Amino acid sequence: MEAKFCLACGRELETRDIGGTPRRACPSCSFVHWGDYSIGVGALVMRDGKVLLVRRAQEPGRGYWTNPGGYAEQLERIDETVCREVLEETGVEAVVASVAAVRDQPRAVHNLYVAFSMDYVAGEPVPDGVEVDAAGFYSPEEMETMNVAPFTRWLVDVAFRGRSEGLTVDAEPLVPLPGYGLFRR
Ligand SMILES: [Zn+2]
Repeated sequence: MEAKFCLACGRELETRDIGGTPRRACPSCSFVHWGDYSIGVGALVMRDGKVLLVRRAQEPGRGYWTNPGGYAEQLERIDETVCREVLEETGVEAVVASVAAVRDQPRAVHNLYVAFSMDYVAGEPVPDGVEVDAAGFYSPEEMETMNVAPFTRWLVDVAFRGRSEGLTVDAEPLVPLPGYGLFRR
């Protein structure tokens, strides 16, 4: 869908060539509609050889088992998002260890999904009763008889059979970079 009005001043946008690409841009202020993007995050929390899964109580994907996750807010670091989502959906406390996988999906709202390997800290899984109606740690054998979402199956394979530890959290970067979430090899 094409953007019609300026988000900053409300004027009708025009199509203008910006750096060789036609963009919807405002004729009276500096606003340019670069596109629509969203960032999803997912958690792979392991405990005793099992991974934390939830059963979705809402569309999309109602009835499917998935790993916990959600969308990053505008001013929220993605490692904070994923901790928040795990806690909200299951009551489990976990901390980010590394970036395990990335999935890119260009579409009307271009979505980037970042999956984190997380270390279990505390809490027994209890579903929030709103977004999810069941939660628990499950082994690959147990998952065989569960309605696990296809993308979650892919992520679970990464959790159990990943070929490296991924991009790990850099808590003490070489140079101070305040406000950044940093993950590196
Ligand atoms: Zn404007």
